[in-house]
Amino acid sequence: MVWQIDLKGKTIVVTGGNRGIGLAISEQCAQAGAHVAIIYRSSQDAPEVAKKIGEKYEVHCEAYQADVADQAAISELFKKIYKDVGPVAGVVCNAGVNYKKPAIELTKEDFDDNFGPNVWGVFTCAQAAAKLWKEHDYKNGRIVFVSSVAATIANKGEAQAFYNPTKAAVNSLARNLAMEWADQGITVNCLSPGYVHTDMNAGLKDDPEFEKKVAASTMLNRISTPDEQAGTAVFLLSDYASYITGTQLIVDGGLHSW
Ligand code: NDP
Repeated sequence: MVWQIDLKGKTIVVTGGNRGIGLAISEQCAQAGAHVAIIYRSSQDAPEVAKKIGEKYEVHCEAYQADVADQAAISELFKKIYKDVGPVAGVVCNAGVNYKKPAIELTKEDFDDNFGPNVWGVFTCAQAAAKLWKEHDYKNGRIVFVSSVAATIANKGEAQAFYNPTKAAVNSLARNLAMEWADQGITVNCLSPGYVHTDMNAGLKDDPEFEKKVAASTMLNRISTPDEQAGTAVFLLSDYASYITGTQLIVDGGLHSW
């Protein structure tokens, strides 16, 4: 028997699927045979990125511009994706932001800027999918939230007093939605990455000394590639993960200190 993840014919929505960790998830979903709907915020090249994925893996891959924090727009968009790309079978709520600022300067606006996309925006997409699955009586929906090890740690010198709590909220949201939607056959889980070399870490990722320090704080003594994160998201979308719900899979190379 060949152990292989097969998402053939399924439609997977990946928010922030045009770059960073999300791009690796879009690619691996397509590689597993899924059609992919990417939701992005403002990157001009997102439609081209989607086109290339579609051509490479011979699947339907389309990019849609929307702000995940806009509940009405997301609800309409999911209906459109259902019609245009196909019945959605899974959603990866990966889009996120990390606005850092010393805690003493933080404002309500900063709170909304972080919690809007990272928590409310995760919820809007999960809810839009769950509503459609209920309407279509689909019993095998898969939801994956991209959380972070930051949910339970505080990094020295990184001023993430709002970002880290957004991820703690995402973990709790996953557990609660998993409970509430279990009767509908929906599983909800988190992928919790450690540090990954992406645009989100602008300023840090160009500092080899910083990345060396982060690498040294892991058991594997290196930082993760986006592909190493994506594999876990795709596993959680697959039939192999049918009995996993309400939990998080931590993919941090054995992070032990920072
Ligand atoms: P990037 O900054 O590389 O990419 C962020 C993506 O999210 C982009 O595609 C962006 O779209 C999209 N996005 C942001 N805000 C919105 C919004 N309001 N509506 C729609 N799309 C939006 O991030 P990463 O790949 O590094 O991170 C992906 C996820 O992984 C995030 O949730 C992050 O918190 C989490 N994570 C990252 C870690 C890391 O070290 N990089 C570690 C742990 C967790 P556009 O391109 O249009 O701007």
